[in-house]
Amino acid sequence: CGVFGVYNHPEASNLTYLGLYALQHRGQESCGIVSSDGNTLHAHKRMGLVADVFGNQDVFKKLPGSSAIGHVRYSTAGASVEKNVQPIMVDYSRGSIAVAHNGNLVNAQLLKAELEAYGSIFQTTMDTEIIIHLLAIARTNSLEDRIVEALNRIKGAYCLLFLTETRMIAVRDPNGFRPLCLGKIGNGWVVASESCALDLIEAEFVREIEPGEMVVCTSDGEIKSMFPFRSVEPTPCIFEFVYFARPDSYIFGKNVYLTRKELGRQLAREYKIDADVVIAVPDSGVPAAMGYAEEAGIPFELGLIRNHYVGRTFIEPAQAIRHFGVKIKLNPVREILAGKRVVVIDDSIVRGTTSRKIVKMVRQAGAKEVHMRISSPPTSYPCYYGIDTPNRKELISSSHTLEEICKYITADSLGYLSEEGLLKSVGMNNTNFCKACFAGDYPVAFPKPADLPQMG
Ligand code: 5GP
Ligand code: SF4
Ligand code: MG
Repeated sequence: CGVFGVYNHPEASNLTYLGLYALQHRGQESCGIVSSDGNTLHAHKRMGLVADVFGNQDVFKKLPGSSAIGHVRYSTAGASVEKNVQPIMVDYSRGSIAVAHNGNLVNAQLLKAELEAYGSIFQTTMDTEIIIHLLAIARTNSLEDRIVEALNRIKGAYCLLFLTETRMIAVRDPNGFRPLCLGKIGNGWVVASESCALDLIEAEFVREIEPGEMVVCTSDGEIKSMFPFRSVEPTPCIFEFVYFARPDSYIFGKNVYLTRKELGRQLAREYKIDADVVIAVPDSGVPAAMGYAEEAGIPFELGLIRNHYVGRTFIEPAQAIRHFGVKIKLNPVREILAGKRVVVIDDSIVRGTTSRKIVKMVRQAGAKEVHMRISSPPTSYPCYYGIDTPNRKELISSSHTLEEICKYITADSLGYLSEEGLLKSVGMNNTNFCKACFAGDYPVAFPKPADLPQMG
């Protein structure tokens, strides 16, 4: 998911709309904006893309005020349905509050069962709603304290934006799984999942919000920064560099595009091969393919052309759509591929269906040999921290050897970037990245299914 917020700017909801547009790659199921006019919160949220939900200028009349938060969603917890569209907005005894969440809580089911036992009735199936219930029962007084009290109970990955009538508060979890940055526009403040959203609205990039940091924007125009949680060694998500973030963004102290290119160079060093042309599976494989081609001294070409009006296939929740999605999305350029030994670069193999279709497509276009190279290690473990990888059984590399996968995708050869190569290319030796989907070393423990209460 992606979050975006503006505090103290006359065009708050319009800017939030633009910010969400820039973050659309982080979620395409639904989106929403909640604004504050100083007295009341206003919401507009629906299933669909930002352009569709906010395409009509009239909706901004319903979103007045100088502060707003927004969200683009793809579901990791909770179904893809209307009631689960964020930001969540509620009225309670202390006023109104809205919250937008990027991440995934690992102790959601336990907390939910506990809250229900005390009489909470949940309106949605999103783990984010738990935070609202915890806020409502917090014993402390100030909003900051109540948020801290609530967040001290949750575990997992969260970048959160809270909006009340008069304040906006941003929080990044102590592990810092997901990126979050702070910007300045005029006299106002901006918070965004990725810096590409600040660029679009011409906000100045101030800095990243640190793991475990809480930033409070108040009406005097200042921000307050606090570190109210027990500190742990941060474990930012390395997969943001591999796939999820936009290449023009700056996250965890680095530009994503250059990092991906380096993954490609390292991949070429690890798997030299004689070939005539390097192509990418667009768009996610492009920077790595360029790095690979440069390092290997093989020409890079656009051998597959993407229809840009189709969303990220993986994120479409229905298996049916995912299946023919590849054909809708990509078409080979025969003149580039016919008679050639082709290296195809992609960022990851999840179920293997994309690679299998692409190898066939490239071969049908006349390629003599098709060599698949992947700019990350095999994805063998599910993510519990906000990336929607499927369960273990569906991950092809959790149960198949390299040779078996190569055979399944019908390639002449297959090579994955090594774990060492990945870490070396990202190059931040002092950072202990989460890489659990590759290595299974989960930095935040989660309850095993057997420990969980059975819920209807
Ligand atoms: P597959 O067909 O192997 O299941 O999917 C692999 C493709 O999905 C790759 O091209 C990769 O770019 C894309 N992809 C989209 N979203 C995700 C995600 O959340 N995780 C992973 N690992 N790959 C994703
Ligand atoms: Fe990122 Fe993988 Fe860790 Fe999930 S398990 S947070 S995708 S590195
Ligand atoms: Mg891809």
